[in-house]
Amino acid sequence: MENDKAWTVSPKGQGQRPIRSKPINRQQMLLRPVEVEKLVEEDHPVRAIWELVGRMNLGSFYAEIESVEGVAGRPVWEPQLLISLWLYAYKNGVNSAREIARLCEYHPAYQWLTGLEVVNYHTLADFRICHKEALDQLFIEVLGVLSYEGLITLERVMHDGTKVKACASDKSFHRKATLQDHLGLAREQVEQMGDPGSEEVSERVAKARQRALREKQERLQEALKVLEQMEASRSNEKKEKTRASSTDPDARIMLQAKGAYGPSYNAQISTDAKAKIIVGVEVTQASTDAAELEPAVERIEANLGEKPKQMVVDGGLTNQATIESMAEKQIDLIGALPERKAVAPDRLKQRGVSPDFYPQAFEYDEGADCYRCPGGKVLQYETEERQGTSVRRRYRAKSSECRGCPFQVQCCPRTKRGRSVVRSETAPEIAAFQAKMETPEAQAIYKQRAGVAEFPNAWIKDKIGLRQFRLRGLVKVTLEAVWACLTYNICQWIRLCWKPRRLAQV
Ligand code: SF4
Repeated sequence: MENDKAWTVSPKGQGQRPIRSKPINRQQMLLRPVEVEKLVEEDHPVRAIWELVGRMNLGSFYAEIESVEGVAGRPVWEPQLLISLWLYAYKNGVNSAREIARLCEYHPAYQWLTGLEVVNYHTLADFRICHKEALDQLFIEVLGVLSYEGLITLERVMHDGTKVKACASDKSFHRKATLQDHLGLAREQVEQMGDPGSEEVSERVAKARQRALREKQERLQEALKVLEQMEASRSNEKKEKTRASSTDPDARIMLQAKGAYGPSYNAQISTDAKAKIIVGVEVTQASTDAAELEPAVERIEANLGEKPKQMVVDGGLTNQATIESMAEKQIDLIGALPERKAVAPDRLKQRGVSPDFYPQAFEYDEGADCYRCPGGKVLQYETEERQGTSVRRRYRAKSSECRGCPFQVQCCPRTKRGRSVVRSETAPEIAAFQAKMETPEAQAIYKQRAGVAEFPNAWIKDKIGLRQFRLRGLVKVTLEAVWACLTYNICQWIRLCWKPRRLAQV
């Protein structure tokens, strides 16, 4: 036996005897019995995940398996195992298939799940992205359990959007000419690729290189396609500035929470206020949340079979369209109205208008629906347009009357048309919404919003680690978001139902 002598030398210096320490033998080999069932304690969360997943109808996952008894082919891993592995991994902030495969080799919880087997990372990676419909169905099934447990009531649902970084850098965004150059280069490289067996490197490495080049070429082609679609909806001036990412063409530059811009996706999450359960999730490419409330309500209805009674949202989702749409669906909307922009006197000053001829000097005649100017002339109604939650009605004087007016130099020196005045009116439904939001009851409900709506967002980013997507493309990042939200919901079920029941049994 060889001891580590460094540990037997006294650190106290001359004149003292060496201490008697315990030996460490790193040359020995041991065979130990492993009782797999005892690898994790009785109330370990991995047991809860396995139990819950086992109770779900996983028929959609099984339907796609081709390896069946009596037919040639290798056996496959049970979907219950692969789902449980991913859920347990996400719960612990692990979102890499390779990392899960490594953990299966030594981590007791993963070993308990697999029965000491190691699952190949390719199998894990493919499973995560290849079962979209089945995963959506599983999300709904789990919602059914949570609803049965009384954790979902749909009495009050808070909705919010959160930006998640894409798996692409700022530098991957290029204009059309650069993308075309890169694509040409990639095509040349693909054409120059030879027989993998004839290269100096191993066949496996050569094939991996070829695959990487082909994927690069496909991404560049996709980026050019996306860029052309974006250009089609833009003015000539903006077309030149349009850029797309060569790494993840679906990503968009968005304003992040801390004020920086970066390649991102917009995750839309609806949370039931009763126990902060996520009842709907989607990932969009929209840089703002303005149009996301109605689709969110439709998702909740599709997931749970009924509409929420009340939706609580922040100012980014409160606008004329959402107020009207929620009123039509008979859903009580609680939200903050964006503050109105004050009239800018600077603009009038720039136009050379004297303060004595600012809009307040014009008198509105409600009966005749017109304005009378300081010169005594009438400004008739001309047009109206909706802006945010208000309607802007424009009234204009006759140009011939202004041209002959002694006040023209002070009133409208730089316009060839007659002077105009804008009257901003609040639509009746907006006025009713504003009146409701001024009540103490509505204010009290709104104050709960941040605590409920932002709780799952923070959990998913901090505990599950979804600050940045690992996958690329809208479809795959949506799958990642669903996995994360499913894990979050199961964590709440473990915390609120499974653990208390276990404790009660002890
Ligand atoms: S310039 Fe036109 S709008 Fe202004 S005071 Fe004279 S008539 Fe009225």
